[in-house]
Amino acid sequence: MEFDPLKTRDPGTGLAHAPSYWAATAGAAPPDDGPLSGDIEVEVAVVGGGYAGLSCAYHLAKAGVAVAVLEANRFGWGCSGRNGSFSRASLGRLGFADWVDRYGIDAARALYAEAEAGRLTVRELIRDGGIDCDVVEGGYLKIAHRESRVAHLERDYRVLSNVYGAPVEMLDRAAIEAGHFRGTEAFGALCYKDAIGLHPLKFAHGLLRMARDAGAKAHPSSPVRAIARDGEARILATPGGRVRARHVALALNGYGPELDRATRGRILPVLSDIVVTRPMTAAEKAEANFITSHMLSDTRELLNYFRRLPDDRIMLGSRGPLRPTKPALDGHRDYLLQTIRRKFPALAAITADYFWGGWVAITLDSMPHVTSAADDAQLHYAMGFNGTGVSAATQGGRRMAERIMGAGGMHPALSGAIPRMPFAAFRRIGQALMFAWLKRQDERD
Ligand SMILES: Cc1cc2nc3c(=O)[nH]c(=O)nc-3n(C[C@H](O)[C@H](O)[C@H](O)COP(=O)(O)OP(=O)(O)OC[C@H]3O[C@@H](n4cnc5c(N)ncnc54)[C@H](O)[C@@H]3O)c2cc1C
Repeated sequence: MEFDPLKTRDPGTGLAHAPSYWAATAGAAPPDDGPLSGDIEVEVAVVGGGYAGLSCAYHLAKAGVAVAVLEANRFGWGCSGRNGSFSRASLGRLGFADWVDRYGIDAARALYAEAEAGRLTVRELIRDGGIDCDVVEGGYLKIAHRESRVAHLERDYRVLSNVYGAPVEMLDRAAIEAGHFRGTEAFGALCYKDAIGLHPLKFAHGLLRMARDAGAKAHPSSPVRAIARDGEARILATPGGRVRARHVALALNGYGPELDRATRGRILPVLSDIVVTRPMTAAEKAEANFITSHMLSDTRELLNYFRRLPDDRIMLGSRGPLRPTKPALDGHRDYLLQTIRRKFPALAAITADYFWGGWVAITLDSMPHVTSAADDAQLHYAMGFNGTGVSAATQGGRRMAERIMGAGGMHPALSGAIPRMPFAAFRRIGQALMFAWLKRQDERD
């Protein structure tokens, strides 16, 4: 059973990966530097070994900065090794069109440029590091799950092409059925042509290898229990030893938001769960015409995201239960399987081979933040990726490294503090009410 980051600050020590399809197919992890044993001194101590932490460590080490990354479990153990595998221009939870309403056109363009930079950073790292992470070129379809949602997608299409110049197109039902799949909840789709799918854990392993090759130290099974000040230095305590550093870079996202005052009470960790089926039979695949290589999601606020995997399994994920109890998780596994069967009647007999979940990090403004603590210019964080962090967390780690090395320039919507959650102690109650409301909205015509 999963730990709950709002109940304990301890995500475990040296735990095995979640029982995911990705963990089963990633192969061996590259070497690391073993658990921290004894005291060390570095310029920057990075806490958290997902995309944000590893990317931060790589970009610092590449610039010649002495850096160590401390991970409580294994590298990629959090979201980064167990996500839905979609990599595209993304930044938080809002739609690109919503940015125009909230921030105005110029700011929205700056934010889109940052999201696009994240997409390109992932490609650049895969290329520069020769990371073999099963990249599937194709694109991403956002699919209207009700007839009424086609108009919403058409609005997004207009904003994306006119305001951002994004490579998008609209598909009608016939085009979806001919080129992607036949299903019950597909009335039209907005196609983003520049998204990719990748193997999330292989990508994390690639970043680990690149960070170490550049000179970073990488210590798994090294949970940071406390961070203290000692004059100009920061001291990080782990069970095996202490790190003395000039800068601390927190990359904990939904897995450790309560560790330090800087991020405490500012993030709502929310479970997202995934089921992966057995491979489709040839007859099932033909009947559903499930030939697409695109990443897919529907237009629900409580999103269903799905794809065909290279071995013809179907992966489908969605928001999980409020708390990771066994009955709740069992119920959610069934719900995800039933969702596949409902969306694709040709797969009525499909069964599940894998089920797992992870904590995504929701923020009040739905945006990620890369910044420094208000009362400590040597403590930085890149967190709050709102469930869309494959590109954004990789980019966020890079931006955190650049910030530590003195660069600025991010839009204030991203470089300010994460807004504090009102009534933070009651975050789960707020979540329950919000989810019930969103579920009703999602099923309205
Ligand atoms: C099921 C699921 C599906 C998703 N699908 C997608 C998708 O398709 N596309 C997309 O863009 N995004 C997706 N996401 C989100 C994306 O995976 C995350 O936004 C991204 O991986 C966050 O990376 P990170 O490095 O910030 O955090 P994480 O990868 O979560 O890493 C945080 C790490 O911090 C470590 N840690 C915690 N406390 C401590 C401590 N005290 N000391 C040391 N280490 C500590 C944890 O062990 C963990 O490994 C999904 C997430 C989930 C859970």
